[in-house]
Amino acid sequence: MHDSIDPVTAAAAQLFGLSYLFPYQRLVVANILEAAQAASIPVVWPDSLPMDPYKPEDPDDRESLGRQMVILPTGAGKSLCFQLPALLLGGATLVIYPILSLMADQERRLQERGFSPVLLRGGQSEEERIRIFEQIRSGTSRFIIANPEILLTRHVFEQLPTLNIVHMVIDEAHCVSEWGESFRPSYLEIGRIVQASGSQLVTAFTATASAPVLEKIDSYIFADHPARRIIGNPDRSNIKYESCGCILPDLGVRDLLITHERPAIVFCSSRLRTEELAQYLRDELEEPELRFYHAGLEREEKTAVEKWFFESKTGILVATCAYGMGVDKADIRTVIHRDCPLSVESYLQESGRAGRDGKAAHAILLWGPVDAGLLARAPNEMDKIQLQKMLNYARDTGTCRREALLSLLDYDGENQRVPESDCCDVCAKSARPRLREEASLYAFFRKNPFRYQLSEAAQCVAQESALKWSVEDAKQAIKYLLNTNVLYKIRFPLWKGKIFAGKYPKL
Ligand SMILES: [Zn+2]
Repeated sequence: MHDSIDPVTAAAAQLFGLSYLFPYQRLVVANILEAAQAASIPVVWPDSLPMDPYKPEDPDDRESLGRQMVILPTGAGKSLCFQLPALLLGGATLVIYPILSLMADQERRLQERGFSPVLLRGGQSEEERIRIFEQIRSGTSRFIIANPEILLTRHVFEQLPTLNIVHMVIDEAHCVSEWGESFRPSYLEIGRIVQASGSQLVTAFTATASAPVLEKIDSYIFADHPARRIIGNPDRSNIKYESCGCILPDLGVRDLLITHERPAIVFCSSRLRTEELAQYLRDELEEPELRFYHAGLEREEKTAVEKWFFESKTGILVATCAYGMGVDKADIRTVIHRDCPLSVESYLQESGRAGRDGKAAHAILLWGPVDAGLLARAPNEMDKIQLQKMLNYARDTGTCRREALLSLLDYDGENQRVPESDCCDVCAKSARPRLREEASLYAFFRKNPFRYQLSEAAQCVAQESALKWSVEDAKQAIKYLLNTNVLYKIRFPLWKGKIFAGKYPKL
């Protein structure tokens, strides 16, 4: 070992075979170990490393010792930040996740690394639970994976003080803000879980978060004692962000899938939509490697789809955001949002599924007439405001998308310089302010003015082989453009109903 290697990196090399840690990973781990030593929690270093080699440098803030809020983009290696300390700390690490698929994913990854994690979840018998608690107390298992609801059930909650939990980790901590006040009230009780566990080390991770979200995490998890904040750069320089206006979003998705690399995920706003779109794409693309995923699937079905997609090199998955948080697939090349997500956080998180291997990837957000319905269905005023910001982002063709997204997050750090052609469609000068169907139909009616009524026109358009539209598709698109004054119908008798593009002629 070279003297120049710090002990945290040396431990990562020896225990995980990693040769490089990101600066923020080193910092988070070092903070945990420093706080452990200050709290007299045993830190056990492997024999081949010098005993107790970690010498904390002037801690900048004694107040927040042991409490960290880590803001890291998805795929930036946050698991290592708590897996490595778990091997060194003399006690158990409790990791809280919001959803089962994340819990299962972490369990799998821990097993791969040689840990023997235990999972606390619904449907376990009392004997099972007693056996799990024994495994933790005896030190056979040093990792507990759970969600807040399970930890708050009386039987588990009563056992928390006896489990020698030294480090509590809350992953996806932004759920406190997003879900806590609506359908996951247990998220507001995490502070109580921290207290009951007696853990002096608490680390909350959030992929992306704006100031109000961070304040809520502080107040609900850290009970208003300030946590040290560590901000990893949320900019994902290998993702090219684009947007695409569509009157017919399903067709838009189809055409994007033809031109973009796979594996690909298409995010939709509802379960039903994923099923319908998957069926449509299967028919249109004659694609066998295509499945859908949402929270309403049976557990076995979910596992099967996750496994299939995880291994697939060319697959297309149509999913709700329930998949977004689930599985760590590194080689996803394209993420398409058929429906606009409710917040910039969700968008960055979901589009951040693309290109985790660091290679070039695409994130494309569709916008169009469907957005009005999304706005109308937004659960509350706050969501409506957030959604409106995303809709403005999608329609804006004047601001670099990377800059626009980061400024929506209130992120004011340095972002990496990316070549203009790889940055976004705005920088590459390929962003279009109009709906994609508009150009084709405008051209068609310029060429054939006053010739066709709606159904004849739709048939002619559908016959243009390059477009691959059905008569119904064409009819819908023409109708929309008639309603928005891009196309017009003649009103005077001789040519009544015939369609033309451009200004209405003066009589
Ligand atoms: Zn750009």
